[in-house]
Amino acid sequence: MVYQPVVLDLLQNLGILKQVEELAYLNRQGLYWRDIRGNELGHLPMPEGEHVLLLGQYRMATLLLNEIAKHTSVDVRFGMAFSGCEQSDDRKHVKVLAHDTTTDVDTIMTSNWVVGTDGANSNVRKSLCIPFEGFSFTDFTMVGADVYYDFAKEEYGTIMNFVVDPEDWAVVIYTGQQKDLKPVGEAPPLWRIAYVESTKLSSRPEDVLERARERCARYTKNKKRLEVARAEPYRLHQRCAAEAIKGRVLLAGDALHSNNPIGGLGLTTGICDAFAVGNALARVCTGQAHESLVAEAANDRRETWLNTTDKISQMNLQRLRSEEAEDVKERNEYFAGLRIDPELPKKIRTAIQGMAGRDFAIRDATRLSRL
Ligand SMILES: Cc1cc2nc3c(=O)[nH]c(=O)nc-3n(C[C@H](O)[C@H](O)[C@H](O)COP(=O)(O)OP(=O)(O)OC[C@H]3O[C@@H](n4cnc5c(N)ncnc54)[C@H](O)[C@@H]3O)c2cc1C
Repeated sequence: MVYQPVVLDLLQNLGILKQVEELAYLNRQGLYWRDIRGNELGHLPMPEGEHVLLLGQYRMATLLLNEIAKHTSVDVRFGMAFSGCEQSDDRKHVKVLAHDTTTDVDTIMTSNWVVGTDGANSNVRKSLCIPFEGFSFTDFTMVGADVYYDFAKEEYGTIMNFVVDPEDWAVVIYTGQQKDLKPVGEAPPLWRIAYVESTKLSSRPEDVLERARERCARYTKNKKRLEVARAEPYRLHQRCAAEAIKGRVLLAGDALHSNNPIGGLGLTTGICDAFAVGNALARVCTGQAHESLVAEAANDRRETWLNTTDKISQMNLQRLRSEEAEDVKERNEYFAGLRIDPELPKKIRTAIQGMAGRDFAIRDATRLSRL
């Protein structure tokens, strides 16, 4: 639900920034690191005029679907499961076998290009025989718990909080919405706590939920039992597809790369992928660019994830949990730097902006409208 400011320009270019900002909570405070008792360890302020968007992925998806519905050339179909694909010998066309899960019927669709955006377990990627290189965190799972409690008012005074602790490291953050989507003041705010637990514990939904009540209490001063609406475990990965494109089938989002969620970089990078690849495809399909531009965009997104997103997200996670002497030193220097070096927030922002990668954007919207 966290979108780093790097997406603001992209949403502006698509003409939907205003709609997104009206729906989202705009966090202008920046990010706070705390110990398990809630004491502040470090603060990364936001640059003047910038904010982090807080908006549940499903709410963003609904907004985007409503926007897409205004374009009659786009046909969105749900319940179509990708089963496999085949490229023609001249590699100009792709046949996709999709299974309609509502009618239980197999359908073959033919297309000039296919973009696999089917998440970290991507069947599109597997069907292309592309390995997902890197590693998964095997010693813990992350649990995302939704709680009705006002951490800003009752505990921290702040919206985005990272808890530093070898066992209870976590993210405690406002989701930007109240219970049942009611207006502020009419219902308790919904907060998200993401913490980790051993993979040896039962993964039965009711057990995860029961444990969540005890775990979430640890982030309150009085160990208060909170109302937990939902708690779901996730496996975390640092993996990237060995190739971003094969012929006319390419990968984007978590299908191309998957990283731990500390810092809100996964979906943010995926949006940057969609923007780069989407613009490159639009330029090629309208005859504005040679088809090699699509491969350039796909490869640039892969390289950008490897060189930027992966590194920042691994550092974000280590900073929360590691007790290794070198990491503790880095953490202390980082927090000290935030206190005394006014240039450090700018450097961090520049690094995060690097997730945008190369610019493939269409500037001439009238030519795009021919699509
Ligand atoms: C606990 C947690 C918190 C996170 N918080 C943040 C955050 O705050 N900010 C952030 O930037 N990132 C965050 N992330 C990462 C973020 O969720 C992912 O990077 C993002 O959802 C990836 O989007 P995607 O569209 O590429 O893939 P997904 O969201 O995984 O979507 C893939 C889609 O493909 C569909 N699909 C799968 N298989 C098939 C098939 N065979 N045929 C057809 N469709 C198929 C699925 O149903 C799904 O709809 C978080 C991750 C976790 C685990």
